[in-house]
Amino acid sequence: MPTPVKHVPRAAGFLILVALLQAVACSPTKQRPPNVLLIVLDTTRGDAVSVHGTATGDGLLAPLQRLAQDGVVFSAARTVSAWTLPSHGSMFTGLYPSRHGAHHESHLLRDDLQTLAELLAPTHATAGFSENPHINAHTGFAQGFEVFTEAWRKKRFEPTVVQVRDWLGTRERERPFFLFVNLMDAHLPYRPSDELLQEFLPPGTDPADVQRMRSFSKIDCMKFEAGELRLPEADLAILRALYRAAVRKVEAHVDRLVDLLEQEGELDRTLVIVVGDHGENVGEHGLMQHQFCLYDSLLRVPLVLRLPGVFDGGERRDDPVQVLDLPPTVLDVVGVPRHLWPSFEGVSLLSRDLRPERPIIAEYMRPETERRRFRHGAPDFDFDPLDRRLQSYQVGDLKLIRDDQGRVELYDLSSDPHERTDVSTERPQDVERLSNALDTWLRSRETARTLGEVEMDEETLEELRALGYL
Ligand SMILES: [Zn+2]
Repeated sequence: MPTPVKHVPRAAGFLILVALLQAVACSPTKQRPPNVLLIVLDTTRGDAVSVHGTATGDGLLAPLQRLAQDGVVFSAARTVSAWTLPSHGSMFTGLYPSRHGAHHESHLLRDDLQTLAELLAPTHATAGFSENPHINAHTGFAQGFEVFTEAWRKKRFEPTVVQVRDWLGTRERERPFFLFVNLMDAHLPYRPSDELLQEFLPPGTDPADVQRMRSFSKIDCMKFEAGELRLPEADLAILRALYRAAVRKVEAHVDRLVDLLEQEGELDRTLVIVVGDHGENVGEHGLMQHQFCLYDSLLRVPLVLRLPGVFDGGERRDDPVQVLDLPPTVLDVVGVPRHLWPSFEGVSLLSRDLRPERPIIAEYMRPETERRRFRHGAPDFDFDPLDRRLQSYQVGDLKLIRDDQGRVELYDLSSDPHERTDVSTERPQDVERLSNALDTWLRSRETARTLGEVEMDEETLEELRALGYL
């Protein structure tokens, strides 16, 4: 039986519905709120996309550059964890993973939270298309969507872009829409075309070696991480080229989605968000894919926002932003008054005064499901050293990573952006300062956890009472 504690946020969500409908319907000066298109480039590193300078030099605009030219690029954007589930949870709720629940230790987005789709559902038609099997109705991610297509069931469905085109063609045209699209082309197995791959391969690469590396599997990844499979630098270079080309492939899908909006006449009244959920290790730190660490190879993600008059002009911002800032940003752009927002841990990116000392925080829970994978793929490997919780806390260029056994690493990203040299021994005062700050943050959240579900500001409570919900 639901508790009264759970009722309050739901009522708040309904209140937003009322406020939004009133705002949209009653004021002659208000225009209809913009559409929102959230495109998640699964497994896409911040330094792999064309907006950050990996263009091919052929004079043509790489796909994402086109969007970036008209929008705003957040060049220091980070995600909140190493992999899909916690990152999407934060993009949907504006909360860190330990608060929203979708992570290794529970795998379920809390049902009592208001997701972005639920918050927009009163005013927007909502549709989700997920190519990632983690993002599905069972893990709680379909909450709030009128249409939610588990697009990884590819045998049953048309390609995702075609499905989006069909949905756009049959929607109610007078309603704004919220579209969520997860694209998986950058995820292993990397399958770019030969033509795309040629742009990234080192000159003189033997086609037979390329063919061999094209079949590099998830089992091979585990064997590499377990130290049972060694790869010469030449093979790693091919693998990195395959990954980069796969990222370029996913960027091309963004281009098609933007074209669809243009054809529908909706592009300039749509907040387009292109974001990565996490990056990818291709041999860095002795790792493959995206688990077991909170290094920037996984945390740094692309983030581009575009909406004329709001996010435009090809601006580049390097303030410390994270993917959990997206829900408050969307509500801000759509025009929901702030006192009606649910309790977010992220902040709106419309705000121009994000302080440089704002911490960038990430969390990784104990990877029990990964242990099972290794039992199958590398049964002789001692998994215990990888079986740990991690937290990272970065302020400015200094980043602390701490595990649940008290081990710490410290990196100075200004001189060591790839986090190769742990300076925790040389700089104990910085370790202590950041560690204390992390502890303070953790304590503040414990307090909020006990109070937060029922704690609402007086104005909101008054509105709830006036509307008869309390
Ligand atoms: Zn992912």
